[in-house]
Amino acid sequence: MRVTKLARILIGISSLFVTGVYLEEVCVVLPVKPSWRLPRCSECTRICPGYDHAHKPVRWVHLGIGGLRLILEYAPRRVECPDCGVRVEMVPWARPGSRFTKPFEEMTAYLAQITNKTEVARIMGISWRTVGNIVERVVAEKLDPNRLNGLRRIGVDEFSYRKRHRYITTVVDHETCRIVWAKEGKSSETLDAFFDQLGDERAKQIEIVTIDMSAAFIKSIQAKAAGATIVYDLFHVLKLASEAVDEVRREKVRKLRDLDDTEKAAAVKKSRYALLKNPWDLSAKEWDKLAAIQKHNAPLYRAYLLKESLAAVFQETSFDDAKHELERWLSWASRSKLKQFVKVARTIREHKDGVLAYVTTKLTNGLVEGFNNKLRMIARRAFGFHSSAALIGMLFLCCGGVALNPPLPASWCTW
Ligand SMILES: [Zn+2]
Repeated sequence: MRVTKLARILIGISSLFVTGVYLEEVCVVLPVKPSWRLPRCSECTRICPGYDHAHKPVRWVHLGIGGLRLILEYAPRRVECPDCGVRVEMVPWARPGSRFTKPFEEMTAYLAQITNKTEVARIMGISWRTVGNIVERVVAEKLDPNRLNGLRRIGVDEFSYRKRHRYITTVVDHETCRIVWAKEGKSSETLDAFFDQLGDERAKQIEIVTIDMSAAFIKSIQAKAAGATIVYDLFHVLKLASEAVDEVRREKVRKLRDLDDTEKAAAVKKSRYALLKNPWDLSAKEWDKLAAIQKHNAPLYRAYLLKESLAAVFQETSFDDAKHELERWLSWASRSKLKQFVKVARTIREHKDGVLAYVTTKLTNGLVEGFNNKLRMIARRAFGFHSSAALIGMLFLCCGGVALNPPLPASWCTW
């Protein structure tokens, strides 16, 4: 077998010819050319007349072999495309604008999906920033272009990164459990951009949108998808009550300290988890703390009961029962003499329809929140990414249903 034929098999890309081979320090350089004769536009792939002859040879990094880097070398021509103008010709082994081969990029993206940045950069021998660029290119090619078709139930949430200074808004399809859209920002204009991309026809098909109580998102949905039912995420609704309990507890600690009752202040301070955890998760010690609060601290115990009974409202399976229970809860909270709960009651009352919509839909942003936790993890490890585009690329790569086909060894050679 000729070396060039063997090289072509090793590269694993059809539609190219290897015309030579030479060694250069730690690299095996393979001069190659496309198997087709007439040049094609790298933007639209159509066959086009040549514009000028090739200039300098260009190199593409391929996967390593035996500790050596494989480098493909070719001097691309330029074409005059009737649609795109003067463009560099398409090469079968690489994406336009990339200096890495497709199998190299596929492998990099695959590793970025499953492991941390230090490992990806080390295994592939490239910087983390380059990993980001590769991910963007792979995602642009592989993301399902029809993912915005037929959306009926979606979840919208914002996700913070860069120490909470920057935000990305994500849209999740509840039916496929995938992120279908993302953009930097968290204003109503950010979400408007999603609906604009969707267009009126597809926006009309949306039946349910789950969100937190963000006024910006509400504004956008009411303006752009007026037919959709807004469901407030139960997790966020219950969080209002948890935060109120915690605020009541902190206020009590402050009061006790002002009275120089440090012992009692410390006891109340240490009751945080007993107050916030679900009753079925409490340890015996935490039950004791709760019992002490019940005995000595009526307002704080009332706050605890308010929190627990709000959660119970949403256990109701009938809408009418839930509505009735919520009304009772709202009037109790309003008369509770706890200003924190008076405020929570006001907020819930203002958003009552969307809060109750949970009972019939049982939809929450739990999925989105789960994604957000995953994304927060990605953002932490993607700290070297300098653009939101690279981060959004990672998001689609890990949560957008992008299927990769990295050149892994066939199963018969695993031992
Ligand atoms: Zn073209």
